[in-house]
Amino acid sequence: MIVFNLSCSQDHTFDGWFRSAGDFDAQNARGLVECPFCSDRDITKQLSAPRLNVGAKEPAAESGAGEPREVMAAFLLPDLQAHMLKQFKSFIQANTENVGGQFAEVARRMHYGEEKHRGIRGRVSAEESSALREEGIETVSLPNGVFMDEGVQ
Ligand SMILES: [Zn+2]
Repeated sequence: MIVFNLSCSQDHTFDGWFRSAGDFDAQNARGLVECPFCSDRDITKQLSAPRLNVGAKEPAAESGAGEPREVMAAFLLPDLQAHMLKQFKSFIQANTENVGGQFAEVARRMHYGEEKHRGIRGRVSAEESSALREEGIETVSLPNGVFMDEGVQ
């Protein structure tokens, strides 16, 4: 068996297994290869080298070729999370004002038009948070410790 990285005209990418390269060409020419996401039949082979299913080959450290995708994702996850958290934090910091323990109060005043609308960040107790929700004030809970260093949490 041979696996190709395929893509459709909508840029969905997926793997396709075939007996041989010729088998892919033949099936594709007959319109038998279809995108699993959108059922598109305008399928092209990606330029990356096809992987052969030869079993216990040492996986290349860099490309991870031949490794199941789930393993790759699990391996990347801590870095990805740290990266996203950092970006998330910068975004929040750039777009909100730190009101600390005054969060519920300020959020309410904004909600009832007593104060100018703006992004704020701060801390609330679980009770305050559900009280705000009941008043129709939506807040976003941040992961614990993200803003620990500036005393928000
Ligand atoms: Zn598609």
